[in-house]
Amino acid sequence: MKPFDYARAGSTAEAVRDFGPGTMYLGGGTNLVDLMRLGVAEPERLVDVSRLPLDTIEPVGDRVRIGATVRNTDLAAHPLIRSRYPMLARAVLTGASGQVRNVATVAGNLLQRTRCTYFQDVTRPCNKRRPGSGCPAIAGDHANLAILGTSDACVATHPSDMAVALAALDAQVHVTGPGGDRIIPMPGLHRLPGEEPERDTVLSPGDLITSIELPPAPPGASLYRKVRERASFAFALASIAAVLDVRDGSVAGCRLALGGVAHAPWRAERAERALIGGPATGEAFLQAAEAELEQARPLPRNAFKVPLARNLIVATLEELAP
Ligand SMILES: Cc1cc2nc3c(=O)[nH]c(=O)nc-3n(C[C@H](O)[C@H](O)[C@H](O)COP(=O)(O)OP(=O)(O)OC[C@H]3O[C@@H](n4cnc5c(N)ncnc54)[C@H](O)[C@@H]3O)c2cc1C
Ligand code: SF4
Repeated sequence: MKPFDYARAGSTAEAVRDFGPGTMYLGGGTNLVDLMRLGVAEPERLVDVSRLPLDTIEPVGDRVRIGATVRNTDLAAHPLIRSRYPMLARAVLTGASGQVRNVATVAGNLLQRTRCTYFQDVTRPCNKRRPGSGCPAIAGDHANLAILGTSDACVATHPSDMAVALAALDAQVHVTGPGGDRIIPMPGLHRLPGEEPERDTVLSPGDLITSIELPPAPPGASLYRKVRERASFAFALASIAAVLDVRDGSVAGCRLALGGVAHAPWRAERAERALIGGPATGEAFLQAAEAELEQARPLPRNAFKVPLARNLIVATLEELAP
């Protein structure tokens, strides 16, 4: 590992002030330290933000604010989250392992990097790691990569389960940085790859996530489901965060976000539009799923994700429908 300087920030203002060229923020380190060991990330200086006093979950009027350094385990176990946003608690618990979740922070989870094997192998080209070097995944191993919103430059997926639930819940990400404070809506934090796959998010250098704010949970039943190659300790082949509100047999409200299929949590807006106001039937669920997946551009070895995502949408909505 390349030598680096280490500093622990005592306040958010100090963290932002300490951020210079070659600096990276350190949360729990469960992704960043792995990438440093692999030579994928080579910061000259780490500013440790994991012990900033941003580790509370509290109600703010009818909303809930989650501090950026709250550990994944504490988020999933918190009574406010379990009672008001069970889908979020479930999503967090499907990720990683108990040991990793004990250390990993909320902000770090959102900003973890793709697990595309070429990205993690510094002996291979990769547009995300070395812009302009090419994307070997397109002709190579892309079985667990994206089918929606891809570009000719990158077909990586975003790995976070938590981000998928936050996208369905219309969460807001609070950020402070050299340019001041701002609020970024979810979805909207993570980018599609386009011509700049090296940029995962809309954050600028030095931007520090301070909290996530959740609006009141939408009415209806909710569920997070994840399909993976083994029952634990595996990233999603496809996942879904879904909220369905059915009144008198028709869909009054619906939120659908997909994971494991795009470079960002994918809000299935076409499916939502197709469903709202219509009947809550299996046939309507299938048509909505197909409307969403018409946009898919699968590669030969991940074409299986199209029927997988379709079946996941339909099965989840059928489970949620009264
Ligand atoms: C074996 C394994 C399996 C896993 N499986 C899953 C899974 O199935 N699903 C899932 O969702 N996750 C999974 N994870 C990922 C795990 O949840 C992440 O590693 C973790 O959430 C990252 O959090 P961290 O605090 O350790 O971040 P770090 O590794 O410290 O940081 C990650 C990134 O966030 C940046 N950062 C950290 N805090 C801030 C901040 N406040 N503001 C701005 N930037 C910041 C860092 O600079 C870095 O770029 C797995 C991890 C491992 C090791
Ligand atoms: S899919 Fe993206 S991350 Fe993977 S090799 Fe291609 S450019 Fe790199």
